[in-house]
Amino acid sequence: MTIADIYKIYTEHFLVDTDTRKIRPNTLFFALKGDNFNGNKFAKEAIKLGAKYAIIDEAEYKISGKTILVANVLETLQNLAKYHRSKLTIPVIGLTGSNGKTTTKELINAVLSKKYKTTATIGNLNNHIGVPLTILSITPKAEIGIIEMGANHQKEIEFLCSISTPDFGYITNFGKAHLEGFGGINGVIKGKSELYTYLINNDKTAIVNPYDAIQVEKTENCKKILFSSDTQFLEADPFVKISHQNIIIKSNLIGKYNYTNIAAAITIGTYFNISIENIKDAIENYIPTNNRSQVIKKDDNIIFLDAYNANPTSMEAALENFSLIKEKSKTVILGDMFELGIETDEEHQKIVNLSDKYSFDNTFYVGEHFFKASTTNKKFKNFEELKNYVIKNPLKNQSILIKGSRGMQLERVLEFIT
Ligand code: ATP
Ligand code: MG
Repeated sequence: MTIADIYKIYTEHFLVDTDTRKIRPNTLFFALKGDNFNGNKFAKEAIKLGAKYAIIDEAEYKISGKTILVANVLETLQNLAKYHRSKLTIPVIGLTGSNGKTTTKELINAVLSKKYKTTATIGNLNNHIGVPLTILSITPKAEIGIIEMGANHQKEIEFLCSISTPDFGYITNFGKAHLEGFGGINGVIKGKSELYTYLINNDKTAIVNPYDAIQVEKTENCKKILFSSDTQFLEADPFVKISHQNIIIKSNLIGKYNYTNIAAAITIGTYFNISIENIKDAIENYIPTNNRSQVIKKDDNIIFLDAYNANPTSMEAALENFSLIKEKSKTVILGDMFELGIETDEEHQKIVNLSDKYSFDNTFYVGEHFFKASTTNKKFKNFEELKNYVIKNPLKNQSILIKGSRGMQLERVLEFIT
């Protein structure tokens, strides 16, 4: 069967699934393989649960009339997405960057949904599987697509662009994330800029923050839309407040860096003719989830939970933002940053120096890397040690910043802070 043949079947229902636990009737089931599972083994179950066909790549799992045998299921999924995208006539906005992709995507989606039927990446499905699945979730009803693209090594964004073929592209920032895979910060800039290369080569448009020197330099030869000059940052205490065309927008996002995320959403909303009232309403009603920059009041403590992820750039930004908050005495709980390769020790040391500089009332470090870098007595090799300490020495009437890499799962701190 060719991709065109599979496409024909797909367009009967526009449904694709990869997980038999969440399967939908009439879907095309793609039997992907992972390190610990072989989707081919679930083909039979998928059919039993109502899948129209299962796409498999191991002949022994064939079920007559119900399976489509291909050379490689993942490549077939990606090629089907490419094929579908080539048939779509709607504008697609592609996002990448080291930090802030999901937040910016959600903000853009909130704004554009005021007027259009949008399809956006669900959650964080931004990789070589998530991007094709997102493209394949775009049905004929959709009017705009918003696609988050993540990467931790070179050529990944180039590849994801070949699937999503964005008409508009935005890079949230170039930060010290995934340094290991990218080969340092210059590697990050090079890797993320593959989005600009795609836009330039295909005469598409970049959204550009005119105050970001790298964005400006890298889009010199690109069609572009600049952030509106009448958008201004007002404050982040703790929520980001901005003015746009003299209208005040009060977001539910903490952290000064969210200013550019919001400005990007305003710029795109304005381009697509969303009224300023609707833009304001969409941004003011967006509440982040998944441990991303949440403010939680618990008894007399105010917790700034940013435990979703961490890297040197977002850690620096979080500390700076926290230093601007005026309420209560301040406690910082920092967990290790992962995937920094040979820069691991140096980057943890820099964060320790920075938080020393801010002289917060308490700083707790959790994890082996910080344990090595810090000289204080409030450092803990692992989560359990931190937990025991905080249970014995409860935090009272504090503002508390919690931030660490995903693997540290620092949101667990909430369970024992009273
Ligand atoms: P992931 O790589 O996990 O997909 P992401 O790029 O989608 O991350 P978000 O989930 O939106 O990013 O935000 C993660 C964290 O990054 C935030 O909680 C915040 O600490 C930080 N952050 C968000 N926006 C920016 C920005 N524009 N610049 C620097 N840091 C940011
Ligand atoms: Mg994300």
